[in-house]
Amino acid sequence: MTLLRSLEEQKRQLLMDRSAAGRVGTTFVPLDVPKTKLPDENLLRDQLEMPEVSESEIVRYFSQLSQFNFSIDHNFYPLGSCTMKYNPKLNDEMAGLAGFSEIHPLQPDETVQGALRIIWHLQEMLTEIMGMAGANVSPKAGAESELAGMLMARAYHLSRGDTGRKKVLIPDSAHGTNPASAVVAGFHVVSLPTNDNGDTDIEALKVAVGPDLAGFMLTQPSTLGIFDTNLLEVVQIVREAGGVVYGDGANLNALLGKVKLGELGFDVVHSNLHKTFTQPHGGGGPGAGAVMVSERLLPFLPTPTVKKETAEDGTEKFSLFTPPESVGRLSPFHGNFGALVRAYAYIRTLGNQGVSQISEDAVINANYLLTQLRGTFDLPHDRHCKHEVVLSAKSLKDAHGTDAKDICKRLIDYGIHPPTMYFPLPNVVEESLLIEPTETESKETLDQFIMVMKAIAKEAEENPDLLHDAPHDTPNTRLDEAQAARKPVLRWKG
Ligand SMILES: *Cc1c(COP(=O)(O)O)cnc(C)c1O
Repeated sequence: MTLLRSLEEQKRQLLMDRSAAGRVGTTFVPLDVPKTKLPDENLLRDQLEMPEVSESEIVRYFSQLSQFNFSIDHNFYPLGSCTMKYNPKLNDEMAGLAGFSEIHPLQPDETVQGALRIIWHLQEMLTEIMGMAGANVSPKAGAESELAGMLMARAYHLSRGDTGRKKVLIPDSAHGTNPASAVVAGFHVVSLPTNDNGDTDIEALKVAVGPDLAGFMLTQPSTLGIFDTNLLEVVQIVREAGGVVYGDGANLNALLGKVKLGELGFDVVHSNLHKTFTQPHGGGGPGAGAVMVSERLLPFLPTPTVKKETAEDGTEKFSLFTPPESVGRLSPFHGNFGALVRAYAYIRTLGNQGVSQISEDAVINANYLLTQLRGTFDLPHDRHCKHEVVLSAKSLKDAHGTDAKDICKRLIDYGIHPPTMYFPLPNVVEESLLIEPTETESKETLDQFIMVMKAIAKEAEENPDLLHDAPHDTPNTRLDEAQAARKPVLRWKG
């Protein structure tokens, strides 16, 4: 054993290497039930290698692991299209209330009226916010609500005996889940080009619509961070061709309280409650996707949806129900209930005024970054953005060989989480950096980020290797991404 180990070294020590034979971290209570025989000896393994550690050792192990992670509670996290906004702790407190966290999804409706009331109100609030006719909050992710939406589009066409509608149009700037959801719902996807201005290419759209058109999936603002100036024309063309207009509102930060997609002719809109309506997320969860629909899709909503009945004496009764032509159940039970409580608490805390203030602040923050970084990075679409801005590192790459990835890796050394990179895809924007500051960041934080981005651009010019080898100050330095993808080492080997 070496005498001095830095905390950084200790942190990297695997749990198995901390193990000592016979050490235990738990205490069993005395046996108070009859002893029974162990199963058949053939089923027992005595060579099972498990770490044997004390309680303090395991607590340290997990606490140290947690410090390898980065979260919005650590620092600025401008991951475009992911809306890593600050999550008020009050919402966690609400979700943790015993009346919400200690109930069981199989309890009879009469015993969980408070929980059902929350779901019903959330459905109503989201319906109102998007100007739609109804909502369901059972999907557990954005992608799952997209699937719900596309299944509803299919059910709608089939219910009218319109069996030839198999084609779904999706712009090439869309999030990858859009085409995936459409295909899982049984459609055939055709990708639409984005014009030079960043909007939907109207001529291409006109050519693509026809009697086989089932629908169009449009993200607003698009993943280029801009509001499609052709939007009304797009909606009109799709509706006239008999298609369903789908709105991907995973990130509604720029539209809240300002634009109701329902009033513009959208039939389905989904929103990621874990992005727009706060929820600590990342690393794959926990998510919740709400799906809002127009009048003509109302009968097809997934189950369970919550309904309210008011008795003559004014008492309200909430219950789970299945809409008449429902596309069915998407996930177990009622959805990710903790996330629903957080979203509800968030909207109620902000109120009408607060909800539209989100849009104003999110848009101002993104445009501030756009104006301050213009000249240092390329702006593929130099026009007002909404809640996020796309920069390109193409000129820096051409001049110094430092690409978007190098800039992102160097940002880590400055304690800032990298933005989304290489999305939008290279065929839409080369060397893209998709930056979403969110409305919850102060001008001081944005100024710090701007300073760092400018410093990195200068470093690229003067010492490009500093970027190529970054990050320098992290537990793991630059990974070999090709090896990591081809030969992942996912478990401990003795
Ligand atoms: C995040 C996102 C999705 C997918 O949401 P998940 O919850 O990750 O399934 C879809 N569309 C857009 C625009 C997104 O940003």
